[in-house]
Amino acid sequence: MSEADCLFCKIVAGEIPAEIVYETDRTLAFRDVNPQAPTHVLVVPREHHRDAAALAAADQGLADEVLKAAHAVASQEGVAESGYRLVFNTGPEAGQTVFHVHGHVIGGRGLKWPPG
Ligand code: 5GP
Ligand code: ZN
Repeated sequence: MSEADCLFCKIVAGEIPAEIVYETDRTLAFRDVNPQAPTHVLVVPREHHRDAAALAAADQGLADEVLKAAHAVASQEGVAESGYRLVFNTGPEAGQTVFHVHGHVIGGRGLKWPPG
């Protein structure tokens, strides 16, 4: 399932270039075009779901795979031990701008909370 005007569906389809760092049959991880930290990777299911809530409701197994892929990315990037943040902005007020669920894997520098 993909959506015609969805940016991340186009990245999954290879129609828009991205620096892919990790992939499985059902997930893809690529560097954020506007990184907020030395490591800033987006992890997505290949299948289109608008946000984390929709993904969890539709396919819990796929949600698990996205979480596992995020941790694999953190390990590969060398931030699993030092610590990293995994963020799923969900809805407009949370700052979600691309409505294809994605986890931000952010690390490689000290992060403060709340992010603002
Ligand atoms: P959101 O605000 O929806 O949680 O995050 C969307 C993220 O996608 C932003 O961090 C933004 O920098 C990133 N982004 C937007 N367009 C592109 C693109 O074309 N390629 C890549 N790799 N990242 C993008
Ligand atoms: Zn999509």
